[in-house]
Amino acid sequence: MRIVLLGSPGSGKGTQAIRIKKKFGIPHISTGDIFRDNIERNTTIGMEAKSYISKGLLVPDSVTIQIVENRLAEDDCKDGFLLDGFPRNLPQAEVLDKGLEKTGKKLDAVVNLDVTDEIIIKRMANRRICSSCGESYNLLFSKPAADGICDKCGGKLYIREDDKPETVVNRLSVYRNQTFPLVEYYNKKGILITVNGEDSADKTFLDILSSLERLP
Ligand code: AMP
Repeated sequence: MRIVLLGSPGSGKGTQAIRIKKKFGIPHISTGDIFRDNIERNTTIGMEAKSYISKGLLVPDSVTIQIVENRLAEDDCKDGFLLDGFPRNLPQAEVLDKGLEKTGKKLDAVVNLDVTDEIIIKRMANRRICSSCGESYNLLFSKPAADGICDKCGGKLYIREDDKPETVVNRLSVYRNQTFPLVEYYNKKGILITVNGEDSADKTFLDILSSLERLP
């Protein structure tokens, strides 16, 4: 399976990615995670990406596309992959299609998680990440047992820099202007699945699975 996860920031892509990856046994490729890892390791890519991410802007295509092309060329992506956070604009989508075409492959499905801005803003304000293992929590529906501490590893929880309210507004507008047109792009190709991302994570996952089964 070659799947793309689409949806505004905070729509639950990461949460669904864990479930989809497990179900289909495909690698989960999150460009956001790749950038955050580079930022943590102070690489050249990380330093460049940080200035955009902290403002809620997209990292330039020249950097992002190269990273994804390199990752997709790895052996574990040969029979399938789950892209989370890529593509985020039309040029990225076109490069992805052309790259796959060259090797006679194509995307099987694009899963679009539909969530209103109002809910997104609430979710982002309550998202907490473990500074040690990267586990994600939400104080609204997946609270850690002890305040500020990761259930899994005891690490300290923090608020992602780009989840701060002033940055979230920018991220939502970037999503609307640059990423949302991809919904129509993939709809025209007949591979778009839109599910309600406001239900529980388990219900949303079941909806994704049944929609995938209905694809031709
Ligand atoms: P995410 O974790 O997917 O919300 O991504 C966090 C941030 O990384 C985004 O707000 C962008 O600044 C950057 N980013 C992630 N994926 C891309 C992409 N495909 N193109 C450009 N920037 C990206």
